[in-house]
Amino acid sequence: MGNKRELVGDLRQVLKPYLGHWDVPENGDLVLTIDKVYEEDVKNEHGTERKPVMYWKEPNYKPMIINKTNNDSITALYGRRTERNTWEGKKIALYSAVVPRSSDGHGLRIRDYKPEPDEYVCENCGAVIVDSGKFKAKNIAKSSYNQFGQVLCMDCAKAAKEALNADSE
Ligand SMILES: [Zn+2]
Repeated sequence: MGNKRELVGDLRQVLKPYLGHWDVPENGDLVLTIDKVYEEDVKNEHGTERKPVMYWKEPNYKPMIINKTNNDSITALYGRRTERNTWEGKKIALYSAVVPRSSDGHGLRIRDYKPEPDEYVCENCGAVIVDSGKFKAKNIAKSSYNQFGQVLCMDCAKAAKEALNADSE
């Protein structure tokens, strides 16, 4: 068979039309960026129901049915959704949680914190911020944001600090 390929992993990844905890990679969370939410007919054991379904900016990921729990989780992170689709572009981290009442003991849930970006980029010079001595890139980004309202690399943070000091003299 020319186009057969071996399937690895939980077969619900290919059998189920909507995202589930079986789609979360074994080595970490699944981080996705919210695009739009549509109302769709979703088939379940009771027949067909109209449900809100969330789509992603990332291509090739199945959409996710929004239940009350997940809606509450995203609202806690990013505020109540308004008519302007204020959640668009926001990232969420999905994980497989132990949910005793569910059919297989697990459920897809959303972390109660915003996912960390993979890398931090200086908003002034565009350089990727790297660890520097005992300072981790993440902390350099955070402390510059707290001090200057911008994520800055070490060099730009130093320059910003000098500029501030010069102003106050
Ligand atoms: Zn910089």
